[in-house]
Amino acid sequence: MNIALIAHDSKKELMVQFCIAYCGILSRHSLCATGTTGKLVNEATGLEIVRFLSGAQGGDQQIASRISYNEIDLLLFFRDPITVRSGEVNESTLLRLCDVHNIPMATNIATAEALIHALERGDLDWRDIVNPVR
Ligand code: PGA
Repeated sequence: MNIALIAHDSKKELMVQFCIAYCGILSRHSLCATGTTGKLVNEATGLEIVRFLSGAQGGDQQIASRISYNEIDLLLFFRDPITVRSGEVNESTLLRLCDVHNIPMATNIATAEALIHALERGDLDWRDIVNPVR
């Protein structure tokens, strides 16, 4: 499965801790991330991660584009729900595209944990049936 990781600044440490905790599961999948999130997770875990641009430079839109091509199977996007940011339109687009393409996504750690366990159990294997070319 292709898993995309994005974390806002106030959630990056949480993303790093999440990836450390689930490193064993994540290591069996292809990972990509926005620039800084990917760098921090890679440094903390050694996981191989394709890094796109930083969010501010359009990294979330690069991920959105891959979602449009059905190249992402799971999005873990740890959002800061409190701080107002300039990129919120892009974020809504990203979340909308997940709904358009029926991509499982988590915007907080509670849902991310549920999804990672589902991934481990094989509950998300229907994604391979939907798009067997990946
Ligand atoms: P970043 O991007 O991982 O490059 O910081 C995520 C974000 O939009 O904050």
